[in-house]
Amino acid sequence: MSHHAVDLIRAKRDGRELSAPQIRWFIAGYTKGAVAPEQASALLMAILWRGMSARELDVWTDAMIGSGSRLDLSTVPLPTVDKHSTGGVGDTVSLALCPLVAACGAAVPHLAGRGLGHTGGTLDKLEAIPGFRVDLGAEGLIAQLRDVGAAICAAGEDLAPADRELYALRDVTGTVESIPLIASSIMSKKIAEGTAALVLDVKVGRGALITDLASAEELARTMVGLGEDAGVRTAALLTSMDAPLGRAVGNGLEVREAVEVLEGGGPADVVEVTLALAEEMLALAGVDVDAAAALRDGRAMDRWRRMVRAQGGDPDGPLPAAPLVAELRTDRAGAVEAIDAMEVGLAAWRLGAGRAQRHHPVSPGAGVVLRVAEGDAVAAGQVLAELHAEEPERMETGIATMERAVRVGDAASPPGPRVIGRVTGD
Ligand code: URA
Ligand code: CA
Repeated sequence: MSHHAVDLIRAKRDGRELSAPQIRWFIAGYTKGAVAPEQASALLMAILWRGMSARELDVWTDAMIGSGSRLDLSTVPLPTVDKHSTGGVGDTVSLALCPLVAACGAAVPHLAGRGLGHTGGTLDKLEAIPGFRVDLGAEGLIAQLRDVGAAICAAGEDLAPADRELYALRDVTGTVESIPLIASSIMSKKIAEGTAALVLDVKVGRGALITDLASAEELARTMVGLGEDAGVRTAALLTSMDAPLGRAVGNGLEVREAVEVLEGGGPADVVEVTLALAEEMLALAGVDVDAAAALRDGRAMDRWRRMVRAQGGDPDGPLPAAPLVAELRTDRAGAVEAIDAMEVGLAAWRLGAGRAQRHHPVSPGAGVVLRVAEGDAVAAGQVLAELHAEEPERMETGIATMERAVRVGDAASPPGPRVIGRVTGD
């Protein structure tokens, strides 16, 4: 059946519900280029203001899944479980988490993305490892899940193509920050991926897409509902993203941080979030194994090494280092009141860790290493952060941004826990 885009735009603009045939027509039409981008933009903006009913959101998400094909992981002999983060700064967690959960006995098919703007992408981080391949294809992914139990790779062209088109449009039309649009974007990809269970890490705070707790809870409940309705056992943790996670922000620098976690060390907040997500994932997968023990005794590290080798990387090879390193110092004594994740993310991006456009390369060695955490006492002249870059101009803008990122005052309290909420399907 044929519809007119302008009828959908008017209906949504005026607060009326879209019908299932209208939604299916729009998603299929926009994906194949039959709906004009200006009309799609207007509809997205109307959705941002008016929201979607539960019925509309179900159909919208299902149509996005149906725009491509679904992976069939039924030949993987272990329970499958994945995680997805809504995006943060310095969020190194997937790198250690996926092999950790595999070491405990579940299979982790982690289809990850690239960074755009101030948040980093897991694929960019792994590609800092020389030789690491992220394009495995469906057969390669399944073979690796059978053999190693974990794979972190790129989604194929045919996985929810509607999301690729819609996300690119949302990115340039100010329509990213809509709960139904975020929920359908993430869940269409994860449901199409074929995982039996899923744990969401919903970031909330200054460096996240969602800055307030109530909206983050609503996003979590919406995504858990979509997952459960599609037969994917789904849970969510809410984790704070006011300050960057851990100390390192930047591709190769974050690989090094993940390896420290796998060695049984690493920053306490990265370990906290990694173990909390691992416990949720293992519970949903029905695997009763102590993740903390698997991290401590090297089983997770063994699995990481197998995964890196299976994807063409050398787990013992050197990581790329940027030639320029500068230090940011405080000129006063006091305490670190705040480290702004958004500003640190922007600094790392300007230093070369991120990209300004879709297909630009990233600098694998660039980024920021924080030498202090919120709540730390500091002396005058103490180093607050190290900055890594390949080009002097980038270093200058990176330093200017970092100067705004770390606030030193008279007194500060240490940060609270990272995990601040939990949403489950039952
Ligand atoms: N990540 C996604 O994949 N989609 C969104 O809409 C937001 C974050
Ligand atoms: Ca980090």
